[in-house]
Amino acid sequence: MRVYSTPLFVLPLPTGHRFPMARYQLLYQRVREFPGVELVLPEPVSQADLLRVHTAEYVGRALRGELDKMEQRRLGFPWSPELVQRSLRSVGATLAGAAWAFEQRTVAVNLAGGTHHAFADRGEGFCLFNDCVVAARAWQAGLGRKGRVVFIDCDVHQGNGTAALCQGDDSLFTFSLHGRHNYPFHKEVSDLDLELSDACGDEEYLQMLGSGLSQLPRAELAFYLAGADPYEKDRLGRLKVSKAGLLRRDHMVLEFCRRADLPLVITMAGGYAEPIEDTAEIQAATVRAALDYSSR
Ligand SMILES: [Zn+2]
Repeated sequence: MRVYSTPLFVLPLPTGHRFPMARYQLLYQRVREFPGVELVLPEPVSQADLLRVHTAEYVGRALRGELDKMEQRRLGFPWSPELVQRSLRSVGATLAGAAWAFEQRTVAVNLAGGTHHAFADRGEGFCLFNDCVVAARAWQAGLGRKGRVVFIDCDVHQGNGTAALCQGDDSLFTFSLHGRHNYPFHKEVSDLDLELSDACGDEEYLQMLGSGLSQLPRAELAFYLAGADPYEKDRLGRLKVSKAGLLRRDHMVLEFCRRADLPLVITMAGGYAEPIEDTAEIQAATVRAALDYSSR
């Protein structure tokens, strides 16, 4: 199974920054030990691919380091050349994963990505560019037609950027399973939004997921945002889903894709557990589940 990762995913941040960047390193260290994993270094996404989704004005300013203070605050990261490199490679990873998964009728994994809070003309919530939507549009362009894509977004925060970017396009179906009272406080409208109450546990969570999966349309390609932040010890999650519950979630999504004969790209999205090793453990378990699925 192809797994896309680069040391550039570990973005150098100012001391004391609240983002737990170490999780990318910790996840990589676990995943590289898995037999059957083919690690691939992702290329940076091209500007042409970005411009199918983001405005030329925003892409230009993001690349040149012209985001103002307010924009950087909303993004949650200070601008740096490393931020640009990381973001371009992360989008590139999801894009390459999509092409590979579709061609081989299999599953591919990006050890970063899932940057679903990025809009056409702005970034927020640690998301500079929207990797899954850029990848979906690039895949359609390569195909020469608008093959249908489903986004299964299980990060605990609503995929607001993805929802906004895909609105009015029937070929891109957005499903977001997220905390009702969590960030973003202004929600966009996905094709399917299922909202969870604070402290929601495994059973309710998985039941909602099952309901969501049963409402998805037929498609040719799926993106799964396997956020680790619904976890009960996540600092930003507000839910009470256990590690075992999250693994059952992964299996449900994988099984759904198998039954629908749906090629799948998995991205990691959010995870802010205390300690951060828990996030790495949850996401490594997701990769392991995908590996078992791909080799069956
Ligand atoms: Zn999140």
